[in-house]
Amino acid sequence: MTVRVRFAPSPTGMFHVGGARSALQNWIYAKQQGGVFVLRIEDTDAARNKPEWTEGILSALDWIGISRGSYEGPYFQSQNAGEHRAAAARLYESGRAYYCDCTREDVQARTGSQYQGYDGYHRDLGLGPGEGRALRFRTPDEGATVVVDLIRGEPTFENRLIEDFVIARGDGSPVFLLANVVDDMTMGITHVIRAEEHLPNTPKQQLLWDALGVKPPVWAHVPVVVNEKRQKLSKRRDKVALEAYREEGYLAGAMRNYLMLLGWAPSGDREIVPWSVIEDEFRLEEVNPSPAFFDEKKLRAFNGEYIRALPVAEFVDACQPWLTGTGTIAPPPWQPEEFDAEAFAAVAPLAQTRITVLSEIVPNVDFLFLASPLIDEAAWAKTMKDGSADLLDSAVAAFDALESWDAESLKSTLEAVGAERGLKLGKTQAPVRVAVTGRTVGLPLFESLEVLGRERTLSRMRAARVRLV
Ligand code: GLU
Repeated sequence: MTVRVRFAPSPTGMFHVGGARSALQNWIYAKQQGGVFVLRIEDTDAARNKPEWTEGILSALDWIGISRGSYEGPYFQSQNAGEHRAAAARLYESGRAYYCDCTREDVQARTGSQYQGYDGYHRDLGLGPGEGRALRFRTPDEGATVVVDLIRGEPTFENRLIEDFVIARGDGSPVFLLANVVDDMTMGITHVIRAEEHLPNTPKQQLLWDALGVKPPVWAHVPVVVNEKRQKLSKRRDKVALEAYREEGYLAGAMRNYLMLLGWAPSGDREIVPWSVIEDEFRLEEVNPSPAFFDEKKLRAFNGEYIRALPVAEFVDACQPWLTGTGTIAPPPWQPEEFDAEAFAAVAPLAQTRITVLSEIVPNVDFLFLASPLIDEAAWAKTMKDGSADLLDSAVAAFDALESWDAESLKSTLEAVGAERGLKLGKTQAPVRVAVTGRTVGLPLFESLEVLGRERTLSRMRAARVRLV
């Protein structure tokens, strides 16, 4: 039997990191089993779907390594509507489902409780189809539904506690629960690997598989992803969109490595490992069923390591969207013609060891590409103290007299200027850094000045000096 798994996102919002994690787990499982990965877009909630969300899913998957053309699909649930209706009709005709026109209020009035589920009132009343009549599944009164789950063992649900749930609404449209089962059935899905939040649906869905006469799939409900307060990640509260991480400059390699560690770890006390190790070692059965903490700080540290491991040329390439504002990345504060690839290449190795997400490249190098630096006024106020004007005067004169404009000479020259005033290098360089880059922190100063060049360095120092008058 060929293993067939599917990833079945709904295009109702930005693509969620938890979704990316499930997609990767499906992807690896299919690969390990010599199976097939199917992508199905569950687009039947017409009110909430948008085509751009579908495009967002495809491009996010592509980014994370599940590239277009390397899987089966995408299929669209809406295109299978005929099958969904046919299945509902079959269940009715075989007596496994019946029509009911009770409102919620009717049920409440009969049961005396707003919490109790449907009471089976229409089970044997023989109501035929008609406008406003929902189709309900006749759940067995006895026995239990045992869900075989690779991560959770065999969760068992007593059938008598499962209400006769709706499978098609009053307007005849099948509900998600049924559509999802019918799609999995028609697509020959053998393993359903999905988020834990769907576990409560599973006994109902398995009953539908049984009633439709097809062997149910093997299930694997992967743990919910939570924030530091152990709350389920929510798009209103937490940063959950994969796209947001991408725009901030997380590398796809770091992201997918981190996502796979949510509830699982490779052998040997390692966390940062090549993707091939994850593909070899990952075992769905080993995934911890408890909620998995999405630790952004840890992800950031991972990303820093991935950035540092890049060959410099790849780092330079990887920074381009932030330097030139391509794709969905916001444009940088300088004009395209002000960007100087050679100057960037010269400072790139210095930046590579310092940044943890690629977007941080911009404040580190903006001084190189702007006609005048963006002055951080708080930094200015903190740094430009009594004596700064005099110090800048001396530094300008000493730099101006330099024969060779290189980091070494700049450093020894400024050191000497400081020494005359009994200042350590750190204190001496602070006003120069603010004058030239606009900030108190950044790349090593003397290398930066070397790349910026004599003329621009001196004119910025003079401009700062004028401001200090
Ligand atoms: N469309 C569902 C979701 O996005 C997935 C259901 C499933 O995987 O079975 O949550």
